[in-house]
Amino acid sequence: MKNSKLFLVLLALLAAMLFTACGSGSTEEATDTSSDTAADTSSEEVSETSEEAPLVGISMPTKSSARWISDGESMVQVFTELGYRTELQFAEDDIPNQLAQIENMVTQGAKVLIIAAIDGSTLSDILQKAHDQGVLVIAYDRLITKTENVDYYVTFDNFQVGVLQASQIETALGLKDGNGPFNIELFGGSPDDTNAFYFYDGAMSILQPYIDNGQLVVQSGQMGMDKVSTLRWDGAVAQARMDNLLSAFYTDKRVDAVLAPYDGLSRGIISSLKGVGYGTEDQPWPVITGQDAEVASIKQMIAGEQMFTVFKDTRELAKQAATMVDAALKGEEVPINDTSTYNNEVKVVPSFLLIPYSVDINNYFEILVTSGYYTEDQLK
Ligand code: BGC
Repeated sequence: MKNSKLFLVLLALLAAMLFTACGSGSTEEATDTSSDTAADTSSEEVSETSEEAPLVGISMPTKSSARWISDGESMVQVFTELGYRTELQFAEDDIPNQLAQIENMVTQGAKVLIIAAIDGSTLSDILQKAHDQGVLVIAYDRLITKTENVDYYVTFDNFQVGVLQASQIETALGLKDGNGPFNIELFGGSPDDTNAFYFYDGAMSILQPYIDNGQLVVQSGQMGMDKVSTLRWDGAVAQARMDNLLSAFYTDKRVDAVLAPYDGLSRGIISSLKGVGYGTEDQPWPVITGQDAEVASIKQMIAGEQMFTVFKDTRELAKQAATMVDAALKGEEVPINDTSTYNNEVKVVPSFLLIPYSVDINNYFEILVTSGYYTEDQLK
């Protein structure tokens, strides 16, 4: 009897100890989640965590080029893995549309905006509003200009993209060996995208000496971004310009090379050249460059129509953007590797530049398929 009483007392003590231990655990939980009861804790934890996770607004310029779709999808994936909520919008190259989408993200309480601008100079008002609400703003791939309310820029080495494109032409034509003269025509990107100027300047840093010494001849005489740019990176605009160049300057001459800064333009240029008989034994394809390694263009590369492109791994860009955002929101040091290049007319925006790669028929498989960017089937 005495023993069983003692046993009961011990049991009660043990139960009390256990209760206290559990109790302290749930108190911590409750403090963490500001929840009052254990029963509420679990349900509120889930909804609070998801609702309170910072919202990242991702504004991409258009779905008409596959790269921006990949950028958007990669960002949603990486940010979700890091525990953020995301809102992804594509503006279909319509500036008011992009402004409205960003405005809506700010209204929804976005803590971060990641923007690949259609026209980098149009966002000042909305970014002022975002800044007043403490929103972190990242210029993604394309610089945002004419505002101080852009915190960081994540992109590729845009000057180097142009250098790669021009070096491809230099190698293919054997310009270093003194070959020539060759006829070349130059195309630039959209004049409202600062990248277009970096691409062009990078390319001209290689090509200009050959133009000066006569190894390259621009039969149209059209040089400089004011003459060669292509509004909104529109392939149809490039095609129409190539049609005009061919009929005005090349009825009795051959085009040997075309500097094209983006695959979408290259495809327009190729259609134009096809229309006047290029791509046959008598009239082989000129050297044509590009950018983004788009599926349609890699197929044209495999078919021997487009000789080169430049690959920029959008998975890496998305990951880098997320790394920078995460560091900034945690108050940690934000990784940057360039503090001098990207002056947006108000300030030099601290930037992180990734490396672009030259792609041709010999290395596309390794760079694009082996790396898992595309499947082999996608390129068939
Ligand atoms: C990007 C390029 C792209 C072009 C057209 C530029 O801002 O850097 O990768 O080809 O826009 O979308």
